Amino acid sequence: MTIRLKSLPSLSDNYIWLLINDENSTTIIIDPGSSEPCESFFAQERIKPVAILVTHRHWDHVNGIEKLVRDYCLPVYGPSTETIPCLTTALNTNDRFTLPGFDLDFEVIDLSGHTAGHIGYLTDGMFFCGDTLFSAGCGRLFDGTATQLHASLQRIKKLPRNLTIYCTHEYTLDNLHFAHAVEPDNEAIQVRLNKAKALREKNQPTLPFTIDQEIRYNPFLRTDEESVMKAVAQHSGQEIENSEDCFRYLRLWKDGF
Ligand SMILES: [Zn+2]
Repeated sequence: MTIRLKSLPSLSDNYIWLLINDENSTTIIIDPGSSEPCESFFAQERIKPVAILVTHRHWDHVNGIEKLVRDYCLPVYGPSTETIPCLTTALNTNDRFTLPGFDLDFEVIDLSGHTAGHIGYLTDGMFFCGDTLFSAGCGRLFDGTATQLHASLQRIKKLPRNLTIYCTHEYTLDNLHFAHAVEPDNEAIQVRLNKAKALREKNQPTLPFTIDQEIRYNPFLRTDEESVMKAVAQHSGQEIENSEDCFRYLRLWKDGF
């Protein structure tokens, strides 16, 4: 089985990810915030959706579900602790499942923080992390806590470094400007910025990415680095004693950036 990944731009800066099995012309949809880009792509490529996976309840991740379920009669997998339209399989941390037509095992990872019930999906070298980790950034805190989001990012950091990570927003350039403000001497930020600019000029996504890459320039994965701790202490005027403190005040800094 060969899996092809496709990003469909949705709303202003979201991506809907499709896992496509070209052998049987079927696809899995991740976080459909709108139905239109999905339906026109399915018609054009003559592929049939078999399931929807949802990372969290925000409208820009779920608004397309009702129409897609009406038109294709699809099962919807999502977090058990959030309200997801048309949910058929409520998932908890560490649950595992398979989907029809796909020889893949999916594992549910706790990514609480952006929202309290946010989950991620791990399968075959791919990780779908919703609004938890972005390239050079991370999600904002809604009903989750800084402690939860810090723990979720540390969990991602412990996954295999060459895992390909699929997040759901094109925020990379903005995030890199903030990363540069935090670590002006980090050359990896400039290298990533040049590559990301070239991609955006051609209207191409800057995603996906690997942990191995992100760990060099994403300040939210570098909260245990002395350079980041120092910058955060200076900006916040707080004593920064550990990675979690650093994360908390870094997130606040970014909120007002
Ligand atoms: Zn969100």
